Amino acid sequence: MESNAVMHVTVWNEFIHERSMPVVQKNYPEGIHRVLASAIEQRWGANVSVHCATLDQPLHGLSDDVLAKTDVMLWWGHAGHDKVADSIVDKVQRRVLEGMGLIVLHSGHASKIFRRLMGTTCMLRWREADEKERLWIVSPGHVILDGIQGEYFELAASEMYGELFDIPQPDELLTVSWFEGGEVFRSACTFRRGKGKIFYFSPGHETYPIYHDFNVQRIITNAIAWARPTDGTVQLAGRNIKQPLSPIAPNTPS
Ligand code: ZN
Repeated sequence: MESNAVMHVTVWNEFIHERSMPVVQKNYPEGIHRVLASAIEQRWGANVSVHCATLDQPLHGLSDDVLAKTDVMLWWGHAGHDKVADSIVDKVQRRVLEGMGLIVLHSGHASKIFRRLMGTTCMLRWREADEKERLWIVSPGHVILDGIQGEYFELAASEMYGELFDIPQPDELLTVSWFEGGEVFRSACTFRRGKGKIFYFSPGHETYPIYHDFNVQRIITNAIAWARPTDGTVQLAGRNIKQPLSPIAPNTPS
């Protein structure tokens, strides 16, 4: 893909808590997806086309057409993981292997698609106690951390996510979070599967206005540019290559 081509981003949100919990409604009156979508549009302007999709739409808003044209998908889910159809999970996984970027947010760690792509339980320790979260930068200079000032940044109140986070070793670890109660967590991790790039970022509990935070928005919008597909025609499918590229010398018995 040309680096100046418009990025097609799909923000997927299960959109359940915002319609049933007043505190979440207050943080995100139109849904988490709308706040993320406007942050992405503000950041990338004419270079991005953002589409929102939610669980209750036909095919969860992820028709073959939408999937085919999506360069990068964001995924926020929590209460509705089990309601996501396996057939859609299959298709999203296939698109990741083909090169679609996937950004998995917060409780999306337990989504079917993330667990499928990781191959582990993706479980962790958690606690809801309005704790301060301090995210330490451990990959300085990484493009996903572009614009983040200082050695760490903080969220005044966050849900604690703690180790052990049962994921495969990430390709890159960008931030380590410390929580007031003592736990630590690998809060920003990258992976690659097939041609696709995957970014997991843990802040984002729905009862806190975390997706309004500048640093959080900056990291997510940076990650979109990082995760977009790259050009290349290498095929993933297995093939029996009967014709060698170069002549193969006859095997001479010794
Ligand atoms: Zn949460």
